[in-house]
Amino acid sequence: MKSIDPETIEKLPGTRLKPTDTFRFRCHKDLSCFNRCCRNLNLFLYPYDVVRLKKALGLDADQFLETHVDVILREGNHFPDVLLRMADNETRTCPFLSSAGCTVYPDRPDTCRTFPVEHGILFRGQGQSERVSFFRPPDFCQGQHENQTWTLRGWADDQDAATYNQMTAQWAEIKSLFQKNPWGSAGMNSSKGKMAFMAAYNIDRFREFVFQSSFLKRYRIKKNLAKKWRINDRELMLFGFEWIRYFVWGIASPNIRI
Ligand code: SF4
Ligand code: SF4
Repeated sequence: MKSIDPETIEKLPGTRLKPTDTFRFRCHKDLSCFNRCCRNLNLFLYPYDVVRLKKALGLDADQFLETHVDVILREGNHFPDVLLRMADNETRTCPFLSSAGCTVYPDRPDTCRTFPVEHGILFRGQGQSERVSFFRPPDFCQGQHENQTWTLRGWADDQDAATYNQMTAQWAEIKSLFQKNPWGSAGMNSSKGKMAFMAAYNIDRFREFVFQSSFLKRYRIKKNLAKKWRINDRELMLFGFEWIRYFVWGIASPNIRI
């Protein structure tokens, strides 16, 4: 999910969709393009994608990040992007692709379940933002010529994408803060930078930090919240987002009190 500014929105490729608009699409094994879209990708993984995939694969977050992602810092950004590492073969296939299709289908990343639609957040300044959506299948995608029609809502329901879209939108709001540099010259290698990356992408280490450091002695946290964070990755991740806002940007949170 991209952060978009009002100047660039008109230049983006694809067809912009309003909530009542429809698009044609149906993907199935009989199409000549079957599986072609799952190779040679720059597939961005958002924090909730990592939580779901590492659990589905039976890995902890360290193992998942080590084995399956590349972390890149793009020029002008002050928080890195996390990309799924493609297989080291001729066509750079997704590591989760088999001849029968996606082997992690119930836990596939947000981008995969939203495809052929892409969402972005249009930031209008002064805290105002709006979700925008584009229908953007690649030319080779035969699914766009099928007769089934969808609204954005219908497609999200069909793909069980609501939670993913919501978590990614919340992350995009935080990521947009990093258009400014909060780290100074030390960059992401500063202790604050490492903490922020952990809170976003390494839920197992972040849980250790919350429960095994002096964190719960230094901050007054409601017992029922801490209880949820012990067992629920999504709840802990939402707190991780709050924590980044608080300790990197000084944005107050009702859940974090000294
Ligand atoms: S290219 Fe389009 S129709 Fe073909 S497999 Fe991928 S999503 Fe389905
Ligand atoms: S995760 Fe699944 S749907 Fe997404 S690119 Fe890989 S194989 Fe395709």
